[in-house]
Amino acid sequence: MAGTFSPVKSSKNLHTDKAIQRLMSKAAIVRRKTRQVQVGDKYIGSDHAVLVQSMTNTPTEDPAATAEQIIDLYNAGSEIVRITVNTREAAKAVPEIVKLLEKQGVSVPLVGDFHYNGHLLLSDFPDCARLLAKYRINPGNVGRGEKHDDNFKQMIDAAIKWSKPVRIGVNWGSLDQDLLASMMDENAASKEPLDGHAVLIEAIVESALSSARLANSYGLSNDKIILSAKVSEVPDLITVYRKLAKKCDLALHLGLTEAGMGMKGTVSSAAALSILLFEGIGDTIRVSLTPQPGAPRIEEVQVCQQILQSLDIRSFKPQVTACPGCGRTTSTVFQELARDIEAHLTQKRAHWQKSYPGVETMKVAVMGCIVNGPGESKHADIGISLPGTGEEPRAPVYVDGQYKTTLSGSTLAQDFINLVENYVVQKYSTVQANTIHKAD
Ligand code: SF4
Repeated sequence: MAGTFSPVKSSKNLHTDKAIQRLMSKAAIVRRKTRQVQVGDKYIGSDHAVLVQSMTNTPTEDPAATAEQIIDLYNAGSEIVRITVNTREAAKAVPEIVKLLEKQGVSVPLVGDFHYNGHLLLSDFPDCARLLAKYRINPGNVGRGEKHDDNFKQMIDAAIKWSKPVRIGVNWGSLDQDLLASMMDENAASKEPLDGHAVLIEAIVESALSSARLANSYGLSNDKIILSAKVSEVPDLITVYRKLAKKCDLALHLGLTEAGMGMKGTVSSAAALSILLFEGIGDTIRVSLTPQPGAPRIEEVQVCQQILQSLDIRSFKPQVTACPGCGRTTSTVFQELARDIEAHLTQKRAHWQKSYPGVETMKVAVMGCIVNGPGESKHADIGISLPGTGEEPRAPVYVDGQYKTTLSGSTLAQDFINLVENYVVQKYSTVQANTIHKAD
């Protein structure tokens, strides 16, 4: 870990909690400098926040169902929503979807996901082309041979005509076969051929970059191009994006494709995206989770937000820091309190964010015993250190690093929730007042 911390010349000031907290200063993430791309009323690029995206899984031909899911995703925090535009009926449905969103007062940029027939749909359905905020083009699915370039050009022409950005979205599962075959042949003929996997990785990167160059040659500027190159293995994704980041300054859309279900999909996506984001790579993210049958689609938005908040890149909701518990705390009291606090923060989130700006950065600690309890609680905005097994049944509460009070008895959980409520009102009303004052 050499180089992570400044050398400490003396330990004489380490006896105060504040001194320790100062040492816990955050590592700054330096974003890779990119082009800035406008997508509807949003911007993607290094001058702007890393945006959260999602994709619907309703049939786009069904405008009511699709609009309803877009609204769910938007309400969950998706800043851009992608819909598949796979058939003539789907392209025809886009204006109706936009109308339904407008009726509900929802304004979110919609991205059309095109494969195989995008060149025809964008030409034959001008309202669809006009109302979408961005087109996703998969260079592996625009036709082969001469048709590839003709179809790709037709889509780029539509983007230029309607002044839309495109995402050139390579996916290793539908990689441009002609490009891969030619790179494999070239590799086989070279003096020191790479193994097949290395050539595949190079082909994924080259497919994205050469498609961007082709789009440039048709007249699309780099501030209208976002690149993605998704693969399903975490180490491969990191390698591919590091290469892309080195070779161009285009804005990058990150995502692990076919991440899978539940914990596997969540952890794999978090592992891949976190490493890249921490290196400053990535300007917008999507987590491709397979939902449980019948489960809401919004989980992918929540995972994106949690990844960004865990890395301290953006804040979306107050966070609970809770210890895992161990043999020192044999009761479930602190687990229940952590759960209740989490539920309370989630339930209050929408109201608090309207009334108390800044509350999304709040940290609440719920700790199981005296070992780390007071230290972690002092580090949070407000924290409680519950008694472990054999400890006195009293729970000190700390606010802004200072001891505030001690709770005990059967109302402890509700008493702590009340303290959190009071803290939010006192601390973030001031922020609100200051904000209003500054705006005046
Ligand atoms: S704070 Fe106490 S109860 Fe929680 S994990 Fe640490 S030692 Fe165990």
